[in-house]
Amino acid sequence: MAQVTLNHVTKRYEDVVAVNDMNLEIRDGEFVCLVGPSGCGKSTTMEMVAGLTKPSEGNVHIGDVDVTTLPPKDRGVAMVFQNIALFPHMDVYDNISFGLRLRKFDKEEIDRRVDRASDIVQLEGMLDRMPDEMSGGQRQRVAIARAIVREPDVFLMDEPLANLDAKLRVHMRTELQRLHKELDTTIIYVTHDQAEAMTMSDRIAVLDAGELQQIDPPLVCYNEPENLFVAGFIGSPSMNFAEGELVANGFESEHFTVEFDPSQVPGASVGDRVTLGIRPEDVFTVDRVQNLSSATASIDATTDVLEPMGDEIFVYLVLGESAERSMEGETASSNQLLMSVNPDSDIQEDQDVEVVLDRSKVHLFDTASGQALAHGIEELPGPSAGTGPDAGTSAGTGAGEGTESPVTEAESDR
Ligand code: ADP
Repeated sequence: MAQVTLNHVTKRYEDVVAVNDMNLEIRDGEFVCLVGPSGCGKSTTMEMVAGLTKPSEGNVHIGDVDVTTLPPKDRGVAMVFQNIALFPHMDVYDNISFGLRLRKFDKEEIDRRVDRASDIVQLEGMLDRMPDEMSGGQRQRVAIARAIVREPDVFLMDEPLANLDAKLRVHMRTELQRLHKELDTTIIYVTHDQAEAMTMSDRIAVLDAGELQQIDPPLVCYNEPENLFVAGFIGSPSMNFAEGELVANGFESEHFTVEFDPSQVPGASVGDRVTLGIRPEDVFTVDRVQNLSSATASIDATTDVLEPMGDEIFVYLVLGESAERSMEGETASSNQLLMSVNPDSDIQEDQDVEVVLDRSKVHLFDTASGQALAHGIEELPGPSAGTGPDAGTSAGTGAGEGTESPVTEAESDR
């Protein structure tokens, strides 16, 4: 087990800055996913921890040792890659034990380690199989067992599930979590798949354009994204965004307003360009939110395409008077909002609806810098929207009238 630290690590390839001034501290025994779009620097970061690439600047520590210039074999790391490079002419036992035999471990020790590793990845009884007699998932388990027998301080995994089919990938996620629990070893895991990162990690490190955007537990990245990039990247489908302005009584965009006291938004003033973010599950039709005490004013919309997913329906909404507005040549996204509703909903395409946002789930970002300003906003205090039992009248929806019911009730009432 070991802690991994990157101090001001930069990697340049001629004119490309693959990783820029990265500071990262991965705790002993932690499972951290490096996640981000293709080309954001995930693999380069991993390679610098592995010793396959040297940083242009900065240093890497594993435990108390500065490993920046050490070769991979002296770093106590074991790697598992996307391409499972098993020796085709060797059986499972020989594939798993190859590295140990190369290092001249004695037979007894090799057997002990292979038994334990094959037990952990559930390959018992398959040690004499050849790779071409195994499924993709089984071959990937051999590759993981080969890493386990090295008894490393740190596991480095670069998209190890990327070549597996969807069902197997989900299954292997659970296996990797179990493996982590069993081995209690630091794992750094590279993926571009945010769902993989959300389900497995203790913390997610979100990268974009070679820079660390946020490192936090999955739900913190989901509920309190530090900037527009993280807000848009984490969560599927993505958060809705609407550009607008901070005004004296809240947020105003072309298609809707949300009332609140702008002084509750730290670091922003009236007149600033701000972007409002709301996740699809935090948008409700008015008739479904009787218990939502934190509803915004209603927004007129027309339903466009419906996507039934089985456990929920994604409803694409067009805000305002859709047909006319689209003919005015607006950009496709500016008047769209995605809402998710329960599968039993009788919502139809091309239906006029009124929707509200859950203001406790509204995010505000500075449009220019992308930095988050607020996660959840309070109602506008004052005669039209007090904090008493009639609070919520500003929403004009009847939502929240005389009720303190928590948001979760509304959600179950979709
Ligand atoms: P990711 O793993 O997130 O897809 P990489 O770390 O592989 O991203 O790459 C980050 C950036 O560095 C990309 O722009 C990529 O083209 C560039 N890059 C990576 N390796 C090399 C290399 N050996 N030579 C030149 N550019 C590279």
